[in-house]
Amino acid sequence: MKKKKVIIVGGGVSGLTTANYLCMNGYDVLVLEKNAVAGGACIGWERRGCYIDGCIHWLVGTRPDSTTRKLWEEVGALSSEVKIFNQEDFYTLEFEDGTTFTVWADLERLKGELVALAPEDEKQIKKFCKLIRRFHKIDAPINKPADMMNIAELMKVGLTMAGDYYYVSKTSKISCAEYAKKFKNQYIRRWLSEHMSSDYNLMSTLYMLAHVTSGDGGIPVGGSKAIVDRMIKRLRELGGEIRCSAEVERINVEDGRAVGVTLKSGEVLKSDWVVASTPSPHALKKLLGDKYKLKKFEDRLSDRKTYPIYTYTTAVFKIAEDLSDSPLSHKIYTKDPITLDKDNFAVVYRNYSYDQTVKLPEGHTVVQATVSGNDDTYFWWENVKNSGHYKEKKAEIAEKMLALYLEKYPHLEGKIEIIDVITPLTYQRYLNGRHGSFQAFVQTSHGKSMMQKGKIPGLDGFILSGQWILQSGGLPPAGITGRFAARRICHADKVKFKTSI
Ligand SMILES: Cc1cc2nc3c(=O)[nH]c(=O)nc-3n(C[C@H](O)[C@H](O)[C@H](O)COP(=O)(O)OP(=O)(O)OC[C@H]3O[C@@H](n4cnc5c(N)ncnc54)[C@H](O)[C@@H]3O)c2cc1C
Repeated sequence: MKKKKVIIVGGGVSGLTTANYLCMNGYDVLVLEKNAVAGGACIGWERRGCYIDGCIHWLVGTRPDSTTRKLWEEVGALSSEVKIFNQEDFYTLEFEDGTTFTVWADLERLKGELVALAPEDEKQIKKFCKLIRRFHKIDAPINKPADMMNIAELMKVGLTMAGDYYYVSKTSKISCAEYAKKFKNQYIRRWLSEHMSSDYNLMSTLYMLAHVTSGDGGIPVGGSKAIVDRMIKRLRELGGEIRCSAEVERINVEDGRAVGVTLKSGEVLKSDWVVASTPSPHALKKLLGDKYKLKKFEDRLSDRKTYPIYTYTTAVFKIAEDLSDSPLSHKIYTKDPITLDKDNFAVVYRNYSYDQTVKLPEGHTVVQATVSGNDDTYFWWENVKNSGHYKEKKAEIAEKMLALYLEKYPHLEGKIEIIDVITPLTYQRYLNGRHGSFQAFVQTSHGKSMMQKGKIPGLDGFILSGQWILQSGGLPPAGITGRFAARRICHADKVKFKTSI
């Protein structure tokens, strides 16, 4: 029998996951990626002889017994041969007055560090660590979406996760800034409220700390690019095809069914199914011509206060010294702010010397300096670009970040070269996301959590996958939605879903 043809638009982690599962289930798969290399937000590249990792700080699913690990292994992202770097220190904070503490990946050590810093908060610190430990147990079911489960499967999930849902739902309604007020110590307050963004809900922070402190948030050695290369290798072994530099202009629809795509080059490709693994707003607004309105997206796109995005402005340093004894991630506070859309009083310096397998001249270290931002940061950079000063401003901001770093590490004077600068405009151009977001909408305490099936009423032969349709983004939602999209296609075609050939 002739294989059914599926076109997957977008060669990020989600698109590749969908592709690999569909190949395992007998489909003829073609991935179309607009960029010259696949991977989307999960990427790494080279500059002046150095590998620059553009993504993974922590990956859920690195512990051998975790559910997500199974998914990563099935699609080729991880295997028993891939070494995992399990960070000891998640990050170190250094405040303006010199006060320093480290967020350790060992929960008992973290508790000890916090109590030593703030004995006045001992009771609250213990409660906080207990809450993190509570989240260690949360291992969301990723085999199939809830709406495809039968009663017995639903009951099993309900029984094993009822307690977890209580804590997830309770902490998702509290903002990090609000929770931080429970502590008397100003440094702990500032840490928690500025851990990512003050309106992030507590659940997101607990989820992150729980994975890292339970050993399920390590970093695969070889970096983000190696993960994607392995997924592509698996795709080819399974008989699938990927075309890069193949930007899709529109998804073609006939009589309520997606029938293929038209590329920017004008080429028309036909298929039985189309999966849009691009950022979903791009798929809905541009590729489908804004003809199908999904309330969950309309609500989010029209309310950026409740549903902001998260983005970075980053300068990359090539340092002629081996810094493997320095902290993995050093958040340095300053009285002299880095001013973008607002004054930023802290810069995070991330040291990549943990990975000795990537390209790097001997005795050198790559450090990335980052300030985070939101939609306003994107608009600020857009104005800078429109006024014709983009290049100078990037250089000026990178120099300021470098000056702050040199205040802490004066012996590195003359040894540092700025080799790249990344702004929200870079992410926007590269991904077709929203306002430079690389991680979908932020999950604030006052917003609703995102869970979209990927189907569009009135449009057959089409499905969305990707981080934008599940919670607050990241690699696990990219992988999970990729798997679910493949399952839904198999279900519609009455194909029994398999996870190997
Ligand atoms: C600096 C940084 C740090 C991060 N850290 C982490 C981390 O530590 N842990 C974690 O879990 N996640 C992290 N992430 C987030 C993670 O990278 C993303 O969540 C994930 O890669 C999203 O995958 P995706 O496939 O859903 O979407 P994307 O990666 O956005 O993929 C979409 C793809 O569609 C392509 N595309 C868009 N439009 C078209 C078109 N018209 N035609 C053809 N192709 C198109 C894009 O080029 C892209 O390749 C980080 C991201 C960044 C940038």
